[in-house]
Amino acid sequence: MLRFSDTNRLSPPRSAYEAELERGLVALRFPAALEREFRKLHLMRVASRVRAWQAVLLVVVVVSSIYRLGMLGGFGLNFETLLRCGVLLPACVAMSAAAWSQKYTTVYMRTALFGSMVMSVAASALVAQLVGEGSGSAIAFLTTIAFATFFLAGLLFFDALLVAVLGVVAFIAAGSFYGMAPIDLIYCSALLALVAGMGTYIAHGVEQSNRRFFLERGRLGDLAERDGLTGLRNRRAFDDHLVRVWQQSLRDRSAIAVLMIDLDHFKSYNDSYGHQAGDACLRHVAQLVQGFARRPLDVAARYGGEELAIVLYQVTTEHAMAVAEQLRASVEASRIEHREAPVRGQVTVSVGVAWMEASLERSPDEAVQLADQALYGAKLRGRNLVRVVGSDEAPVFVGGLRRLPAG
Ligand code: GH3
Ligand code: MG
Ligand code: MG
Repeated sequence: MLRFSDTNRLSPPRSAYEAELERGLVALRFPAALEREFRKLHLMRVASRVRAWQAVLLVVVVVSSIYRLGMLGGFGLNFETLLRCGVLLPACVAMSAAAWSQKYTTVYMRTALFGSMVMSVAASALVAQLVGEGSGSAIAFLTTIAFATFFLAGLLFFDALLVAVLGVVAFIAAGSFYGMAPIDLIYCSALLALVAGMGTYIAHGVEQSNRRFFLERGRLGDLAERDGLTGLRNRRAFDDHLVRVWQQSLRDRSAIAVLMIDLDHFKSYNDSYGHQAGDACLRHVAQLVQGFARRPLDVAARYGGEELAIVLYQVTTEHAMAVAEQLRASVEASRIEHREAPVRGQVTVSVGVAWMEASLERSPDEAVQLADQALYGAKLRGRNLVRVVGSDEAPVFVGGLRRLPAG
């Protein structure tokens, strides 16, 4: 039997943002879930800048290619035509398409990294050739590209650094290949390396502050939204989420389920083991409850006192009932000792489930009310039970939720 003692000192659950802040930002990389969230927000923040840059880049590459190849006397099958039309242009088209795509946040980052690497190498080769031919001013194009790699292309720091280093190396290699005068090669490479170095220095600081800001914002969000004892969402966040999910269900014509979970005979647990043990027990059950709200639009919350709640989005009655039953069984399987519990001598929960198809005639409050009513039914029938109420049953209690009598 699992036993919580009154001497258990509970530290408040730490948010993932806070833990990451304490770890520091040296590596400029978060654990997978946070990193995904950060990258998505980053891409949304830089979207207009990225789109503008990719469009400008595409126009510049097209116009300069037409001009240059026209000057050369046509698009004959030579190395430059191949590099411009077969490598540079497709890379720019792919990056522009990703930047303007509907799936921008999922496809852009990888496309931009790959496209920028290809473009950086191809542009370095072309410019090295031009400088070798005596058009020294062409180097300005590469310095612009190096600046844009860090500040306009939407790449994260390490990706941008990789692209910039690749560009410098490709330039040195191509310059040597095209027989650039050593003094020109050294001068141009040093110029490029200097721009890349400045970009590296500034972009590192900028990304560090962006990441810190992201963590601080997440931590504040958690403080406002989460319950301090259990780490679940608080009542306000639950209410907000329920309304949002309801509106989504109205659009999708789908159903939601609200599960109300109440610890049985919890007052006597506190009386018998003390409040600290009660807190530990409540937190243990809350963690189990959290495990049943894993999909993105499902949410688990502390509704109030020892009452917890789950919203399940897009569910069938059978699925909602199965989740509730698994939850009830998992609390039972935890075998938390409760010597005052009249039947099993262990902590149990009762669960009321309301399943409802979203419609304009109904409201999310009604779903909560039905779930509470179902919970009341489960308590009356002896506790450690699940009771499901469908949307065709009219709500019995109007104007506020009935509280359960003690005992
Ligand atoms: P029932 O089976 O009918 O739900 O009985 P119950 O004793 O659980 O219900 P009742 O509403 O009489 O008591 C709820 C108890 O939950 C009373 C209160 O001390 C306890 N409780 C509520 N919030 C907390 C909390 O944050 N920590 C602790 N330790 N106890 C809490
Ligand atoms: Mg209770
Ligand atoms: Mg209660």
